[in-house]
Amino acid sequence: MSETNTIFSIEVEDTKNRCPIGETVGNRNMAEGKIPVLSCEGACIRGEIARLAANMIAKEKPFARACHGELLSVPDSAMAKWAKSAKKVVLIDGCFLRCHGRMLENLIGKEKLVQFDALSVYSKYTDVFDIDDVPEKERIETARQVVDSVLTRLKDGDLQ
Ligand code: SF4
Repeated sequence: MSETNTIFSIEVEDTKNRCPIGETVGNRNMAEGKIPVLSCEGACIRGEIARLAANMIAKEKPFARACHGELLSVPDSAMAKWAKSAKKVVLIDGCFLRCHGRMLENLIGKEKLVQFDALSVYSKYTDVFDIDDVPEKERIETARQVVDSVLTRLKDGDLQ
């Protein structure tokens, strides 16, 4: 039986470095009140579909793509401050494991996180790991399916 409902933590070495373009984009998006869009960035096809979907949604108003690396490991960066101060954050996890959802609920708060499980929308590729095992055109079409589902739900009020 797997362990569930336990909380664990990791230690992260701090850095004084900053990503110059990350600072520019984070500050600009914060000033413009953009809604951050994150994906789990998983390495498999499910993570890739989620990443592609997040990139597409970020092209729509009032959204913009946020960087999960800075959010999680550079807490004083503009990118992290933007994500933590935004009124809502859209998160697309690649599958039911919800790797980012489980982290971000504790980091930025469950109430302002609007979460999606991309796999539940298209329900295939469960025996595939490598991104390249699915042709690019099909990857994009599948991601578009996820985007349509996410945008419909967001328009139906999940951003309120
Ligand atoms: S949510 Fe699924 S696809 Fe994303 S990183 Fe976790 S296991 Fe991979």
